Amino acid sequence: MPTRADIELDVGGKTFASGLLPELIAALRRSRPGDLVAVSSSSPNVGPELETWCRFTRNTLVDTSVGSNGTRWVLRCGEAPASEAARPVGSRLWLYTNFDCNLRCDYCCVRSSPKAPRRALGLDRVERIAREAAELDVHEIFVTGGEPFLLKDIGQILSACAETAPTTVLTNGMLFAGRRLETLRSLSRERITLQISLDSPTPERHDRHRGAGSWMRAWQGIERARAEGCRVRLAATVSTDEEAEEFRLFLDAQSIAEENRVIRRIVLRGFAEQGLALARADLVPEVTITAEGVCWHPVGAEDSDLLVTRDIFPLAEAFAAVRRAFEHEGEHRRRLATIFNCA
Ligand code: SF4
Repeated sequence: MPTRADIELDVGGKTFASGLLPELIAALRRSRPGDLVAVSSSSPNVGPELETWCRFTRNTLVDTSVGSNGTRWVLRCGEAPASEAARPVGSRLWLYTNFDCNLRCDYCCVRSSPKAPRRALGLDRVERIAREAAELDVHEIFVTGGEPFLLKDIGQILSACAETAPTTVLTNGMLFAGRRLETLRSLSRERITLQISLDSPTPERHDRHRGAGSWMRAWQGIERARAEGCRVRLAATVSTDEEAEEFRLFLDAQSIAEENRVIRRIVLRGFAEQGLALARADLVPEVTITAEGVCWHPVGAEDSDLLVTRDIFPLAEAFAAVRRAFEHEGEHRRRLATIFNCA
């Protein structure tokens, strides 16, 4: 069932560069905060631009669906209600345990590969981070890389994190054999979730980005983890709304619950040659720690524009530095808005 909207706007083949914007603004002027406006377009280019526009204008994209005549996006006028937007800076904590990987995906946002130097965060630092995070109202910890299961002590790393908060480890799911399978078996079923990458319902597109045979091995890893009783979330990285919709239908057919699915766009960082261009100002910060320091967000965690401080400890000070930077960013945006209005 398509999401019901208060206003339906069919913009045909128009894009932001060819007349969509005035129609959109006129529709929003007829709306009240909280109203839903549906935008239907036959142009495949509208989606990323509309996402960016919503972020900048503090409207909220709530639904995307693809039909035979094009795509329909539904946005809510005004910011998401507090219950949806409530993710205070620091409630999510990301740890990059390492940067080396058994794969070399062509869109990897942190340039991981078998040749990438490990740059390990290390168990000692993770344990201290977890101890200090326990005092800082961290609700969720995400462990990522590189491929975290390349590390011999990943089981201890995940257990240390899970003592502090429910923990999700992002993995390509291809290494669950031998000692790594033993590690998998040792993990808390209640506190640790595996987020396994699967980009498409069938191997072709996944393998094109991630390497021949990788879809099948990821799928086997998913089945292995499920058979071991682990909670598994599937995460697809896609290029278009059509790819997202195709994957959504696949997840529906597999009866995968909403909370166990993630579909996100390729971001123009790292190895990616095309994708969503995201600057720091586009991103609500999620504190991210690597061996090099503390970053604004996990997407592009090795890019200097997202580095906030090289000092990880004390962790409370690192969190405060990210919050200060966020406030500063808000000030900057407000100043820009004033300049724009005067012009
Ligand atoms: S996207 Fe993930 S699996 Fe692919 S190279 Fe990067 S870290 Fe490895």
